[in-house]
Amino acid sequence: MPITLTNATYIDRDALSMRTGAINVSDDPKGGIEFVDHVTESATVIDCAGKIVTPAFANAHHHIYSALARGMPAPPRIPTNFVEILELIWWWLDKSLDLDMVRACAHAVAIDALKSGVTFIIDHHASPNCATGSLHAIADALDEAGVGHLLCYELSDRDGTERFEAGLAETDAYLADHQGLVGLHASFTVSDSSLGRALECAEARNTGVHIHVAEDGADQKQCIDQHKCRVVERLHTTGALRSPKTILAHCIHLDDHERSLIADSNVWVAQQSESNQNNAVGALDARAFADKVMIGTDGMHSDALGAARASYLMAQREEGGMSPRQAHDRLRRVHNYLESNQFEGDSGNNLVILDYNPPTAITADNWPAHMMYGLSRAHVESVIARGRLVVDRGRCTLVDEDHLLAGCREQAERLWEKL
Ligand SMILES: [Zn+2]
Repeated sequence: MPITLTNATYIDRDALSMRTGAINVSDDPKGGIEFVDHVTESATVIDCAGKIVTPAFANAHHHIYSALARGMPAPPRIPTNFVEILELIWWWLDKSLDLDMVRACAHAVAIDALKSGVTFIIDHHASPNCATGSLHAIADALDEAGVGHLLCYELSDRDGTERFEAGLAETDAYLADHQGLVGLHASFTVSDSSLGRALECAEARNTGVHIHVAEDGADQKQCIDQHKCRVVERLHTTGALRSPKTILAHCIHLDDHERSLIADSNVWVAQQSESNQNNAVGALDARAFADKVMIGTDGMHSDALGAARASYLMAQREEGGMSPRQAHDRLRRVHNYLESNQFEGDSGNNLVILDYNPPTAITADNWPAHMMYGLSRAHVESVIARGRLVVDRGRCTLVDEDHLLAGCREQAERLWEKL
């Protein structure tokens, strides 16, 4: 049944124009919205008096597999650098996952994302000991809760040939019946032959790659030692920068030549400034390719708006300043990525209803400043995804969130016992 929002103050995504009135929300999964004079009798009516309605958010780089890490046992020793953070924490965690745990991670993230107003997730998944079926399991769990997705499996040579092959097979099988990307961990864990095969798979499936790029200086050092060039140069030479569907995550330790290669390419860049602070790896300077940068959360949490605020604050020091409008556009750029590549699920009828009642006026000009300084996930009251009400006054509607979260805690206990 279509939904009608009455008395809604709607803020447009691009022009930020504001309009108050009744809105019909199409129940077609690929539908949109239209302002109407009369409420249709057959519609579900939601009174939005005093509320803001605006397009829902999307997350450009997540790691659903890390959802059960919150509060987990400490590693055997404190990591002293980025590679040790991977070895002692994340590669230990992802190898301990089984399909029940992966499914629980996806349920946990779906609930968390929806409640922060996020209706679409671009994810980068790794579960080396249960690659087979993992992407389908995540997709099913996200579909169940009403979250759109663009998934990939993180290919790498870090765990040997057999696991690389299993990851590639899972990728190819998943891409046969789903939209998605070909995931690669990072240049420093991928041989030339593996990179070549990943690119062949991407080309055959008409998609791009999703790879961590120069997140830490170690990625560059290995590339220079092993391949006699820098990471983005390696990707450029091998053709990895050709697809407009390709996403490079982080892009911190770049030189000017690499920055210009990205600026002149069709690829997009995902920024995760909170994760970068957490891992002490440095900060993005995107001045050379600012129009390509999107916002992700890198598994830290699922709140894209919160991540955009972190990016905005970080940019004041690292990128010579950023206006609230520029930060807003960076948060919203993921919609341009999805739209221009014709990915499905980030529809015009994905909306967030915000119970946001600020002490100052909201205008089209200052809405980005409200987003950076006032608005948070706490203001997300209800969420509509592809025309369906998926969060109703703070509760997920398509899934029983208490039941699922209880299941997540059981799976977390199993996982932590293995660590
Ligand atoms: Zn990441």
